[in-house]
Amino acid sequence: MKRRIAILGSTGSIGTQTLDVIRQHRDLFEVELISALRSTELLCEQAREFDAANVVICDESKYGQTAENLKDSDSKVWAGIDSLCSLVRSESVDIVVGAMVGFSGLRPTLAALEAGKIVALANKETLVAAGSIVTETMRRHNAVILPVDSEHSAIFQCLLAAQGNEITKIHLTASGGPFREWDRKDIAAARASQALKHPNWDMGAKVTIDSATMMNKGFEVIEAKWLFDVKPSDINVVVHPESVVHSMVEFSDGAVIAQMGCPDMREPIGFALSFPSRVSVGNRKLDFASLGALHFSAPDFKKFPCLRLAFEAIERGGNAPCALNAANEVAVAAYLKDAISFYDIAKINEKCLAGLNFVKNPTLEDIFETNLEIARIANGCIN
Ligand code: MG
Repeated sequence: MKRRIAILGSTGSIGTQTLDVIRQHRDLFEVELISALRSTELLCEQAREFDAANVVICDESKYGQTAENLKDSDSKVWAGIDSLCSLVRSESVDIVVGAMVGFSGLRPTLAALEAGKIVALANKETLVAAGSIVTETMRRHNAVILPVDSEHSAIFQCLLAAQGNEITKIHLTASGGPFREWDRKDIAAARASQALKHPNWDMGAKVTIDSATMMNKGFEVIEAKWLFDVKPSDINVVVHPESVVHSMVEFSDGAVIAQMGCPDMREPIGFALSFPSRVSVGNRKLDFASLGALHFSAPDFKKFPCLRLAFEAIERGGNAPCALNAANEVAVAAYLKDAISFYDIAKINEKCLAGLNFVKNPTLEDIFETNLEIARIANGCIN
């Protein structure tokens, strides 16, 4: 039986790379549903190539154009996030790939988990904003989250070799982003176009800016806490510029297991889709002799204050990580438009965390409210 895949956010970087894996294995997978926020043209092209049963355009104003484009195809066209939330629950969906950007992925991810689906999760912001609710929903409905984030896929793969032994530490690797070797003064003046040049990974704009500030690594610490039930203080962030070791786990006897590969998102995507089997994904393979050496160093919390903020937010708990994510989404969007400077992102994040109306055990309603309220404060900072 083919695995029937729903891709939330099929036109983004993770979405297109997921479809590339499926393209290489049409005998194993079929596309049940694809969705996009507003990239109508590419969405329709994907619907035709993969003969997608359902197509959702989340921006309702683009519905007419999408439906017209696909009127002579077999794909059913829907509009809006509510349609997406009900379609992911369908019996005809086996795996939901969560590849939407930011907080917007939370509702459809929860819908998929409530329906007991396997969720291949790339959208780390859902776990950052609502980790306790997301993991609780998963447990209550016997759903499964398989990590797609390369570091978390690596940790998951290392744990498969752990034979149930408890891990004492996670070594979460970080490329260090494009500004790893820059002076603070030069980083302060860096424009979005420079921050968008990631040395190793081919990713979307939001996560690439998050990599440059190292907010991404901070969010990954929070993501790892929820996925693997570890204390943030047991997560060691280590800068590894080659991005070959995708992360490592350590045991009580000091033994460390690492997972490695060339940096290519199709590897963790392929593993999540075909788990527990492995499939070829068309990536390059490691050539250790030509690599020669791998490098590791401690992160610079002064140059990258967002990383410190993430540790502070998760130690505080409650709705603090949600607030950090909300502030960061607004700040990164402004930075991408050259409306603020690089370190303004961290300043806005810090200010929003300080001004937070703290809730220790937030309900889903509290999370939505925090997200709105902090976005309002962050926008106020920018104006
Ligand atoms: Mg990652």
